[in-house]
Amino acid sequence: MALDTVTLRSAFGLMALVLMLLFYFSAYRTTRSPYSGWWCLALLFFLSGSSCFLLDGTAHQVWANPMGNVLLVLGGVAVWSGARSLRTVPPPKWAFAGIPLVTLVASVLDSPATNTWSGGPVFLAAMSLTVGLASRELWRLEPGYSRVRIPMAAAAGGLSVFYLLRWAAFVLEGQDGPIFVTVFGSAVTTLVTMVLLVVVSFSMAALSNEQQTRALRMVASRDDLTGLLNRKAFLNLAAEQLADLSITRGTGALVLADLDHFKAVNDTFGHAAGDAALQTFADACTATVRTTDLVGRYGGEEFVILIPGASAERAENIAAAISRRLAAASTVDGMEMPTASYGISTYDGATTDVDRLIASADAALYRAKSLGRNQTARSDRML
Ligand code: GH3
Ligand code: MG
Ligand code: MG
Repeated sequence: MALDTVTLRSAFGLMALVLMLLFYFSAYRTTRSPYSGWWCLALLFFLSGSSCFLLDGTAHQVWANPMGNVLLVLGGVAVWSGARSLRTVPPPKWAFAGIPLVTLVASVLDSPATNTWSGGPVFLAAMSLTVGLASRELWRLEPGYSRVRIPMAAAAGGLSVFYLLRWAAFVLEGQDGPIFVTVFGSAVTTLVTMVLLVVVSFSMAALSNEQQTRALRMVASRDDLTGLLNRKAFLNLAAEQLADLSITRGTGALVLADLDHFKAVNDTFGHAAGDAALQTFADACTATVRTTDLVGRYGGEEFVILIPGASAERAENIAAAISRRLAAASTVDGMEMPTASYGISTYDGATTDVDRLIASADAALYRAKSLGRNQTARSDRML
């Protein structure tokens, strides 16, 4: 006995509904992870999209058929967005509007009143594309991410290839062709999609918990005002860098920066203006160094930068570049941007002690201050 499509579709619908409720209450409500949120949305799109096809053969087919295509494609885009959210990349805006829009236009122009496969090739290609992009996104996650992303990436990749083959069969032999109807018919598609859903539900808890943990860790390691690493996170990461001699053979420089007469900025222009100056300085730092360098807010108006591989000269140039950016920054209400003083210490692989590096840079900073501020001093000892 062959399973008929209506039975299969109903089973699929029930499964998607149960999964949507499970994802919502067990994953999304407890972790608020974007990954689980996107999957709830994707299932909602898949459910409502499949329901539209129930109206095929009725007078409503003319709008329901294109709408079903668009909703299913939106489901594919939501799956892709969910995969992207694991890398904290924002949802693809152009794709969210563009891919469904192209699908809609292709369907509407393809006599949807009589054609149950209106816009078929575009729909199949859009499904293959969006689910394929989701798979690529999951493969590209850093190796530290939970292993369950691998079956998930494989399942999405498989579904994408399946839609690609369906598309090819449709283009080559049309919607009534023997291969398209038997091998790539609705029944097989429903079964293949069910396999993906089983794998998603298997990996949902692990991935959304991991996403939440990473988000919390990110918040805990950042300074609220400037978004730089906070003191504790900087010290931890710097200790890791110093311990790893494979990074630039264990040499580099540390820069300690302190804004000059900052108390006067607060007293003259107010605390909020002072805060704005701190943010400007932080931005000047991140804009000047490489993303692999560590930048932290060490204290109130003190900042610290670890530059692996840098010589003292290079660190001095970086300090000068930060000061230039700070001076060039625009200010509100005629506030004058403060200058900054810097102390530099360097290391050559013999030390793994961040505290000593900082103490040495601090001594240099003290000299820069006493020599009149707005300048850089080097520690004379190599650590
Ligand atoms: P010097 O050139 O010697 O460094 O003088 P200074 O005035 O910068 O040094 P001091 O350490 O006396 O003052 C630091 C000031 O920074 C005092 C404090 O009110 C201010 N400050 C610390 N944290 C914040 C902050 O988060 N926001 C604002 N607006 N001010 C802060
Ligand atoms: Mg200070
Ligand atoms: Mg100061």
